[in-house]
This record gives sequence, structure tokens and C-alpha cells, in this order.
Amino acid sequence: NKKAIIIGSGIAGIAASIRLSLKGYRVEVYEANAYPGGKLSEITLQGYRFDAGPSLFTLPEQVDDLFRLAGKQPREHFDYIRLPVACHYFWEDGKQIKAYADIDRFGKEVEAKLGEPAENIRKALEKSAYIYDRLSPLFMQRSLHKFGTWTNKDAMKSYLKMGKLGIFSTMNRANEKQFDHPKMVQLFNRYATYNGSNPYETPATLNIIPHLEFNIGAFFPKKGMHDITMSLYRLAESLGVSFHMNARVEEILVQEKRAVGVIVNGTKHFADLLVNNMDMVNAYKTILKKEKQPRLLLNQTKSSSALIFYWGIKKVFPELELHNILFSEDYKTEFEHIFTHKTISEDPTVYINITSVHKADDAPKDSMNWFTMINVPNNQGQDWDAVIREARKNIVNKINRILKTDIESLIEVEEILEPRTIESKTSSANGALYGNSSNNRFAAFMRHANFSSDIKNLYFCGGSVHPGGGIPLCLLSAKIVSEMIE
Ligand code: FAD
Repeated sequence: NKKAIIIGSGIAGIAASIRLSLKGYRVEVYEANAYPGGKLSEITLQGYRFDAGPSLFTLPEQVDDLFRLAGKQPREHFDYIRLPVACHYFWEDGKQIKAYADIDRFGKEVEAKLGEPAENIRKALEKSAYIYDRLSPLFMQRSLHKFGTWTNKDAMKSYLKMGKLGIFSTMNRANEKQFDHPKMVQLFNRYATYNGSNPYETPATLNIIPHLEFNIGAFFPKKGMHDITMSLYRLAESLGVSFHMNARVEEILVQEKRAVGVIVNGTKHFADLLVNNMDMVNAYKTILKKEKQPRLLLNQTKSSSALIFYWGIKKVFPELELHNILFSEDYKTEFEHIFTHKTISEDPTVYINITSVHKADDAPKDSMNWFTMINVPNNQGQDWDAVIREARKNIVNKINRILKTDIESLIEVEEILEPRTIESKTSSANGALYGNSSNNRFAAFMRHANFSSDIKNLYFCGGSVHPGGGIPLCLLSAKIVSEMIE
């Protein structure tokens, strides 16, 4: 059998290992950490369990597909629920909105609480579905860097509709047009953060994201987000994939413009092809440093990063859902701070994710596991210790004001994840969550291809390359890579 080496066991690396193994390759995965999953991992602290990174799960059929491809019944290995409430939104003036999965109910909720016509919600979600149907075949399902993608029928149809698809407007401008109430504009602008972008700059085409959350659904794996990693890891192992942990690849070996293997701990390992799942920017700086550098791509602006406080909270707040947002009073200023001033506003939007709402054993009795996060700039050498101290104070005050509590007195354990540790734990350039930002309309074309045009037999998957960051796109990158390899 031919042999494939995969560098990194992020979710895309694991998915690629499954696909290549099913194509008959012998697959070896080298992972720098002691555990699989990269950003999609978990931490446990004194009786509390936290999903370390991603918390929002959309397009679960991408995971199911991998089980089906292996001839297995997905539900027997990986199970999830559709959330009845996608998110609970809170504002400083006491207003609250539950984003019900039932769109009619969500419409009634915003009509009753904000006077926003339910009809506007329905129309916005129809538009979102329209953009998704036109753009996903072009931008998500295939390599953008193969001629065939641009000459097929779907692509032709999409060019003709570019204006209607929002490429020339921003997400914020489009939302101001489709909603009356500024709180609804804010709520829908928030979807830009799902790939680390700025709603005041990112093209309105990103309004495809609400389609994923409302029309298709927001989901939660019954055993937590980390089960996405673990169930696929077990599937890969059952197919014969070998995982080598604590095995950092030091160099990709290239001979006569062909990738032939890797060096790990001073030892050479050879293969017929290589798939790199390490962040593309750091890969060129380290394991590909002798090769030609794609400077234009390497210099693209990165997405935002995150500051997370994993808090064990010794109280149950019945008003909180799995996903909760405590909105900033001045959203525009918040994004200016993140993307222009590279710092944090005094009034950041606070996201609280609590898996113990649906998975009781994630927290001790009468307690909750709070993953408390704000969006922050990626790492540009800021004085993070000072920034984090200040941010923590502002977050605690905001929670106290909105939830009418004294949260500090309820925190019994704490751990922090921030841009520097995101980079050191996953090799993500500048600690960005989603690779390049999508803050301009050319961003989709400025991601690295899923293959190297200079080095034969070298492929790329994961959040820093086409089609982009986030679990569903990472899984698609693995699919695109595997379809290229015949
Ligand atoms: P990564 O997870 O980046 O992993 C890469 C792996 O490669 C790591 O395990 C690393 O150790 C390994 N590696 C690197 N260099 C080497 C080397 N030289 N040798 C060997 N191994 C190496 N996405 C969502 O869909 N929903 C969300 O709600 C969401 N929220 C997020 C919140 C946070 C805090 C973070 C950090 C991310 C979030 N994301 C979310 C994004 C999502 O986590 C990522 O897009 C996705 O997990 C990236 O997967 P990947 O395959 O690119 O690999």
C-alpha cells in the first residue's frame, strides 16, 4: 500500500486520515501535543469539564459522513441534539431575546420584545439560504485553485448574481437594510465573529451563517464538543491509522520538488504523500522554511483571537442556556478596538457557554461550568498580562450588572486561555482562531490552496487554508484534499 503522513491531529488532520485510510493508504499521523484534536480538545478542573475551544456546532452531517463512508451507523458512535434555543441574548437595559430554533417562535419573540416585524426575520433567513445555496458549491465544496471550479455551471450562475449575494456591501449595511431595530442589527452582525471577522468590514456574503444556525440548526454533541474529536479519532484508529503523540515534525523533506517525508525527533520518516494540518503561516516559517515562501498569503491579516476564563461556578443560573451573549452597548467601538487599535474595549460583548445545561456531569451538583469568552485581537505583542487583568474586571462588572449577581464570590476554579497560549498549544499564527480574517471581499481567494503548487505530493488541510476556519470548513478541507488525491 502507498503511505501517507499527516502533520497534526487537528480535526481536519483526523478527517483526512480517515478519508485516506479508506482510499487504501497506510496513514501515519504525527502530533506535537500529547493529545489529539488541537483546538478541539477539553480540560478538566476539580470536578468541572470544559470544551477547550469550539462551542458552536453546525453542519453535523459533515461528521456523520465520515462514519457513513466507513460503513458505520453514525448515531451508534457519535450522538447529538438539535438545540431548542440557539442562543440567549441579554442587553444592559434589561431586554432579553431567546433565539428559538423554531423560526416562527423566534419571530414572535422579537416582535413582542422589540417591535421588529417577524416578517423581517423570515425574509432575512430566506436571503441567507439563498446566498448559501449559490455560494457553498463554489466556495466551500471545491478547491478554488483548480480551473474546473471556475468553469462549471454553478460558478457561472454565481458570478451573475455577485451583487445580489452581497459581495459589494458589508454585513452591517445589509443588516441595517433588513432590520428595523438596532438590537436585531447587532444580533445578526454577531455572525461575523463566527469566523473571527468584523461585521463593519466583512462582505454581506457572510450573511450565509445565520442560515446554518437557524435553517439547518445549532447542535450539541451529547458527550460535549470534545466528542467530535474523540469519536473521529477512534474511528481513524479502528481503520488502522497510527497516531504518534508528542511527535513534533521538525522539517518536511523535499527532494527534486517532491515531498518525500518528514523529520521527527531527528529521525526521517518517508511516505508517498504528505498532508499538512499545521497552521500554514507557521508551517512555512518552520517545517517548510527552506522552501519558496508564498509571501502575499503569509502577510494576510489574521482573524481575531479569544480570551477565555474557564470558571467553575458554585451556583445554578436557571435563566442561562448553553449559549449566552451579554451584548456590548457600543458594538462598533468594540470592533474598532479589536481590529484597528488591537486592544479591548471597556465594554466587551461577553459570551458564556455552559455545557452543564445539557450535560449535567460537566459540573458538580448545584454548580455550572462557565466558558466565559470575549473576542480579542490576535497577538501583536500587546502587554497581555495587563490587558487580561483589565478585561477580567470589565467582564466581571458586566456579568454582575446584567445577571444581578456577585460572580467573583461564586468562582471556585479558574483557568485562562488567551492568544499567546492558543499559539503555543496549537501553533496557530498570532493565536488567531480562524486563520486569515474575512474582512475584505477578496479574503476567500487569499487563503492557501489545498495543495502546493511548487512541491508535488504536498497537500494542506485545516482552518488556515481553503475553505477556511471553523469545524465544518476544516472537515470540508479534508474532503477536498482527499478528492484531489487519486
Ligand atoms: P488545529 O486545531 O489548529 O490543530 C492543529 C494541530 O497540529 C495541533 O494539534 C498541533 O499541535 C498540531 N501541530 C502543529 N504543528 C505541528 C508540527 N510541527 N508537528 C506535529 N503536529 C503539529 N470553530 C467552530 O466551528 N465553532 C466554534 O464555536 C469555534 N470556537 C472557537 C473557539 C476557540 C477558543 C478556538 C481556539 C477556536 C474556535 N473555533 C470554532 C475554530 C476551530 O476550533 C478551528 O477552526 C478548528 O478546530 C481547527 O482545526 P484544524 O484542523 O485546523 O487544526
